[in-house]
Amino acid sequence: MTTREYFAPDSVDGALRTLAERPQAHLLAGGTDLLNDLRHGVIEPGDVVDLAGVAELRELDEGADGLRIGATLTMRELLAAPLGTRLRALREAADLLGGRQIQAAATVGGNLCQGSPAAEVATALLVHGAVVEVAGPDVRRAMPLAELFAGPRRTTLAPAELLVAIRVSAADAVWRSAYRRIDLRRSVDIAIVSASAALDVDGGVVRSARVAVGAARPVPFLVHEAAAALLGVAVADEAALAAAVDRAAAVARSASAPISDVRAGAEYRRAMVGVVVERAVRAAVGEER
Ligand SMILES: Cc1cc2nc3c(=O)[nH]c(=O)nc-3n(C[C@H](O)[C@H](O)[C@H](O)COP(=O)(O)OP(=O)(O)OC[C@H]3O[C@@H](n4cnc5c(N)ncnc54)[C@H](O)[C@@H]3O)c2cc1C
Repeated sequence: MTTREYFAPDSVDGALRTLAERPQAHLLAGGTDLLNDLRHGVIEPGDVVDLAGVAELRELDEGADGLRIGATLTMRELLAAPLGTRLRALREAADLLGGRQIQAAATVGGNLCQGSPAAEVATALLVHGAVVEVAGPDVRRAMPLAELFAGPRRTTLAPAELLVAIRVSAADAVWRSAYRRIDLRRSVDIAIVSASAALDVDGGVVRSARVAVGAARPVPFLVHEAAAALLGVAVADEAALAAAVDRAAAVARSASAPISDVRAGAEYRRAMVGVVVERAVRAAVGEER
């Protein structure tokens, strides 16, 4: 990369025009990943397009259809939003990400676009059925969040595209949910493994469910069979619930393909997947009992 210029557009269209001219430019949101990566030579220095001045990206809108979370909403702004009991898993994940200073800068979109398998808010948004809105040179498109992730440090976004917002339908936002993670050092470490569960409980029975796991495959992922194990369970029936949670945890362990790294070995990670899935499901159910 030969030039190193800084751009501060005030609209999505302005950001897209700059990206169209310089598709290799780095998008800067909170900078908590990007600036570290530049500083440590993980990515090459290059032009920077700062999204901080783009008001549309910072908005949290609520309509009859549901919630629209702007990509550059920070974790602290999310935690301060009047969400009531909705999106509990997402709020728990935002609250566990880094410490307060990091949460003041780190954005929801940056967390998703960094492409980390351990990205804190990813599993929480997956279990709430999130859809992402992407803007490119010619068109805006929407796709299920799962389709954004391509592998460690990679997304499916084209170089001239950016993430605009994350949408959760009104119905999905009210599902009972929870996020749990295993970590070494709270606030300075990312998850060793993590999981979110969301349940639609009606009449004391689980009518629909989603379970997602983080840091146990190259991308955060939904475990559909784990969710299926929870369907039809009467949450007040402790024996039935325990059996269903065991099945969900076992399926999630089998669906995992964790790696060994400096923070944990693969076998420990696999075992802990079962633990975080059990904790997340039980915490989500807890609101109902
Ligand atoms: C001390 C410390 C602790 C941390 N703890 C955690 C933790 O516990 N859990 C965790 O998950 N992470 C953690 N992180 C990592 C980081 O804070 C998060 O991933 C954060 O959410 C990234 O958001 P950001 O706005 O800072 O992204 P940036 O650093 O600005 O961007 C990250 C990447 O996303 C791209 N990007 C940003 N916005 C967009 C967009 N709208 N469209 C397309 N691409 C975009 C950027 O180009 C860059 O490649 C930690 C970091 C530090 C320094």
